[in-house]
Amino acid sequence: MNRYETVIGLEVHAQLKTKSKIFCGCSTMFGQGPNENTCPVCCGMPGVLPVLNQKAVEFGLKMALAVECRVNDRSVFARKNYFYPDLPKGYQISQYEEPLAEHGKIRIAVDSLEKVIGITRIHMEEDAGKSIHSSTDNMSYVDLNRTGVPLLEIVSEPDIRSPAEAVAYLKSLRGILLYLEICDGNMEEGSFRCDANISLRPTGREEFGTRAEIKNLNSFRHVQKALEYEIMRQAELLDDGEAIVQETRLYDVDKGMTRSMRGKEEAHDYRYFPDPDLTPLIIDPDWVEELKKALPELPGARMQRFITQYNLPEPDAAVLTSEKELANFFEASVKAYNQPRKISNWIVGDLMSKLNDTGQRVAEISLKPDQLSCIVRMVDEGTISGKIAKTVFSEVFETGTEPEKVVKDKGLVQISDSSALETMVDQVLEAHPQEVQRFKDGQKKLMGFFVGQIMKQTKGQANPAMVNELLNRKLQ
Ligand code: ADP
Ligand code: MG
Ligand code: ZN
Repeated sequence: MNRYETVIGLEVHAQLKTKSKIFCGCSTMFGQGPNENTCPVCCGMPGVLPVLNQKAVEFGLKMALAVECRVNDRSVFARKNYFYPDLPKGYQISQYEEPLAEHGKIRIAVDSLEKVIGITRIHMEEDAGKSIHSSTDNMSYVDLNRTGVPLLEIVSEPDIRSPAEAVAYLKSLRGILLYLEICDGNMEEGSFRCDANISLRPTGREEFGTRAEIKNLNSFRHVQKALEYEIMRQAELLDDGEAIVQETRLYDVDKGMTRSMRGKEEAHDYRYFPDPDLTPLIIDPDWVEELKKALPELPGARMQRFITQYNLPEPDAAVLTSEKELANFFEASVKAYNQPRKISNWIVGDLMSKLNDTGQRVAEISLKPDQLSCIVRMVDEGTISGKIAKTVFSEVFETGTEPEKVVKDKGLVQISDSSALETMVDQVLEAHPQEVQRFKDGQKKLMGFFVGQIMKQTKGQANPAMVNELLNRKLQ
């Protein structure tokens, strides 16, 4: 048994995919020239007033409903005061005492074990700008394009008990945001960011230990690694009878370690107060009802449907529904050729590994759902062997050429001509008399050798079932 139990709570910042910023009409488009997307409001000029973007509220409400939060009919924007060059007003508009929504939950699964993680609150705020420190001219620059981009902050209860659960929680959350089409979920670009709070407590004790908050976690892998490191670090300190310091730590990707960045700031350091420039946000319950009714099928529900409707194992259904486009791809393939189990195997195995290798998203690939169906069908009909199907798949994935054309142009049609195969089998047996003798003496494993020889000769195109049958007959 472990000496300590891990306690983790996550704060996620999700950039909302609205066209304009949360309090002004500037574009939120990524990759523009420095400070192109700015105006007097987001630059923090005196004498201008913020106006709330209704679409941002709508997106926030959708998320709140999707994770079963209670929506507050009244929420309040507050000023969070701190000084930093990328924060032109000297405060960030956020929500503090009265957030948009509270008391939600999300289901996760680790190793098929289901668990519910509580969501403390969801609130809206504006993003800060970006400081760019140039080593070439030893200057620092500020780009305010990101200033005022709407963010949703989603705070979990300290219900998470391991790094694996933390990653599962983040994947669930990100999946929901993507299904709702309110955030693009890109961790590297920072549109889906996470701070992890972590503490240890002696197993069996109820009281939480002192926590550290880890920042700069921009991939699932980093979350996992940073938390694993932190568990080790805190356990060693506790073993030595030392106290954990409550602080903010930074994950150093290169070293795989966390290091202290600053002492933990307390809420009073920020001197929160309601923003006098904005009235309280009053939410019409009819609007909430309307949004609730219009929610799309969410990843959890879709996964359950895939399990029952297509008779898929849960882990496969989980992969397929992890992204909307992937799930759509699967369903389109099945529609073109009703072999869900086989199509699922291709997607979960071959397609996923291609996506990992190329870093592409489903929406970007040349392979079309009906092309995958076509490959699966050609195998079932005996036109190509399972092995050749892999070659065809790669070719179609890379070029988008129709699978039939690839098979035809490259002469990949399976050899199912029994007299041609028989001649080959005879030749192989004649060429390997010793192996034939050993086979007859009981070394049945040599069957694989004979099959291999024929596959080699035919570049994998011989019909394996027929080859096996011929060999069995000849070797009796
Ligand atoms: P702050 O805003 O100052 O970071 P919060 O009270 O909002 O503090 O908590 C932030 C996150 O820290 C939440 O996700 C919460 O679940 C988590 N948390 C709070 N206490 C602990 C603890 N002792 N160990 C691990 N996580 C914790
Ligand atoms: Mg915090
Ligand atoms: Zn602006």
